[in-house]
Amino acid sequence: MSTIGFIGLGQMGSPMAANLIKGGHSLRVFDISAEAVADLVSKGAVAAKTPAEAALDVEFVVTMLPNGGLVRNVIFGEDGVATTLSKEAMLIDMSTIHPFETDALIKEMAEQGFQMMEAPVGRTSVHAIKGELLIMAGGSKEQIERAQPLFDCMGSETVDCGGPGKGGRVKIINNYMSIALNALSAEAITLAEAIGLDFDTAMKVMSGTPAGNGHFTTTWPGKVLAGDLSPAFMVDLAHKDLGIALDLANQVNVPMPCGAASRELYSITRAAGRGRQDWTSVLEQLRVTSGLEPKIK
Ligand code: NAD
Repeated sequence: MSTIGFIGLGQMGSPMAANLIKGGHSLRVFDISAEAVADLVSKGAVAAKTPAEAALDVEFVVTMLPNGGLVRNVIFGEDGVATTLSKEAMLIDMSTIHPFETDALIKEMAEQGFQMMEAPVGRTSVHAIKGELLIMAGGSKEQIERAQPLFDCMGSETVDCGGPGKGGRVKIINNYMSIALNALSAEAITLAEAIGLDFDTAMKVMSGTPAGNGHFTTTWPGKVLAGDLSPAFMVDLAHKDLGIALDLANQVNVPMPCGAASRELYSITRAAGRGRQDWTSVLEQLRVTSGLEPKIK
């Protein structure tokens, strides 16, 4: 069992810390909220007055804070973790922050002889309470192996994302997609209601198509990911259908910012001569437009 300094006891950090205590670890906790600290003390943690005190004589420090500026301040600020952390200990930042900030922090920590990895989490506070988070580990194999007993208390699945900084990168891509899909879904369902559709019927139809199931496991594997852009459904037809939906939305006064932006990607794909290719060629087109090496000749 390990000694752990835990900093940031909010919606996520508080249940994560509680699960580490349940797993038999000894915790020294710090948060700017005295109430949050008192709650963890009632569960068996020891209170620290500063980040430095939380990091004193521990094997791990876990940070779970709202943003990168706070993580930096808790590490390198006055009474920060770096003033007391042992060179044998490891700092694990589990916050969701800008991956380039993570890169800079790992580099600066290493320059001072400290060990740091990142391990942001997927899912929500409901899963944090149950110890069922998805842990996106960014670090060396040795670092991940060392942190695994902690991850096992807080999560039900750990994914080795492929090296330092990669956990934070995957996390942001994952959130980008699920957050943007939330907005796109809201647009579609609002339009459905505005044109008089029954909500449950619309949901039922879309749950049986890529609209509800996404493209990763439906349209992409047999087409663009297999290098086959022969049309199952043509870019030209997708472009036409998006145009009809946008026109309809315009007539019933529903703004469609995601749909309008998506239509332009199909316009770019069509303008590049891919109109008669499969609609999944938007992926290849965007890759090429972004300066990445073409995958499909
Ligand atoms: P939160 O706002 O509930 O908690 C943040 C905690 O940090 C608070 O208790 C706050 O008092 C504390 N804090 C702020 N500044 C501090 C400082 N200088 N020193 C010590 N403590 C300080 O946020 P949360 O929902 O727990 O999220 C924490 C991180 O987890 C964020 O990076 C978030 O993006 C990420 N995350 C959240 C969820 C979610 O569903 N809520 C899911 C996955 C990841």
